[in-house]
Amino acid sequence: MTSAKTVYNFCSGPAMLPETVMKQAQAEFLDYQSKGISIMEMSHRSDEFQAILLSAKARLRELMAIPENYQILLMQGGASLQFSCIPLNLTGSDPALYLDSGYWAKKALTEAQKYGSVEVLSVLEEHPEKRLLDVSVTESEHYSYIHYTPNETIDGLEFHHVPSINKGPLVADMSSCILSRPIEVDRFGLLYAGAQKNIGPAGLAVVIIREDLLSRADKTKLPRLLHYQTVLSEGSMANTPPTFAIYLANLVFGWLQEQGGVLEMERLNKQKSQLLYQALDQSVLFNNAVATDSRSRMNVPFSIDRNLETHFLEQAANHGLLNLVGHRTAGGCRASIYNAMPKEGVEKLAEFIKYFESQYV
Ligand code: PMP
Repeated sequence: MTSAKTVYNFCSGPAMLPETVMKQAQAEFLDYQSKGISIMEMSHRSDEFQAILLSAKARLRELMAIPENYQILLMQGGASLQFSCIPLNLTGSDPALYLDSGYWAKKALTEAQKYGSVEVLSVLEEHPEKRLLDVSVTESEHYSYIHYTPNETIDGLEFHHVPSINKGPLVADMSSCILSRPIEVDRFGLLYAGAQKNIGPAGLAVVIIREDLLSRADKTKLPRLLHYQTVLSEGSMANTPPTFAIYLANLVFGWLQEQGGVLEMERLNKQKSQLLYQALDQSVLFNNAVATDSRSRMNVPFSIDRNLETHFLEQAANHGLLNLVGHRTAGGCRASIYNAMPKEGVEKLAEFIKYFESQYV
């Protein structure tokens, strides 16, 4: 059997977590802070859990330099429930604008269309390569909000700048790129992310919202758990929160601080992704079909001759390189290289790509 250390997990999410975090969670699993019980078995109103919740929010605020006039909400239902929460909470008399960059952007806008008027602007060029387009909105119209997906997890497309549309608060689905680089939070009205890539276990969602947007929705018309102001006023405990997921998120945030925060993550993520794209670009057998200026630092999709794909995936797994299969809707292969993926994992994959190719070319 391969030992835990020699395995690298390239799953797109739930994704690998930092080894030190997993070890700490393991050490504390049965007996949290000498209380004789697990954090999973403690009341969410206990002093111990309250300290964790406050710490998680404080660490996230520090890591992302979140200004005072923004609130952090910890919610359930992953990023997908936010596809509903956002239109329910933010739609006013103006339509919403959705930038369509692919699979996840479409999922978000399809949900929003159920609740109000939505305009869609395609920002994806498919040929000859996939590329995210510069956005320009010329009409003088104002939008309730403008939604976009900074990183398309399946197609491996990433905006490397914030679209400059000054016609309503910008809302971003940062599920697969949050904490991977510094961002200017004050350019956004709302940011959200499902946790299972750069934060912690699946199910939890982080929402960062500018205070003036909290009061848009009518409390009496929305489900309690989906109303941002209610979630805030109940301290992200409008019902029993996912305590273990929040505990792990707090550990991941602490780990990020120890690593040097998002600036250091950006430096490493640039290095890791360049290493992998270089290996793919130098190969004749493998291909990445995204224009260089739109390539994601987090998700690297690639293709290989269909006849060799299964063999590649099997051999990679035998070398400890796991979960390189592409999304079920896209096919092909994909390496997700979030913050917790060590550089050695990417080096090993790049070497393996060269080795595999040397058997055929
Ligand atoms: N948005 C993006 C960009 C994603 O990558 C994903 C999940 N892969 C989602 C939304 C949906 O997240 P969840 O499964 O937590 O609802």
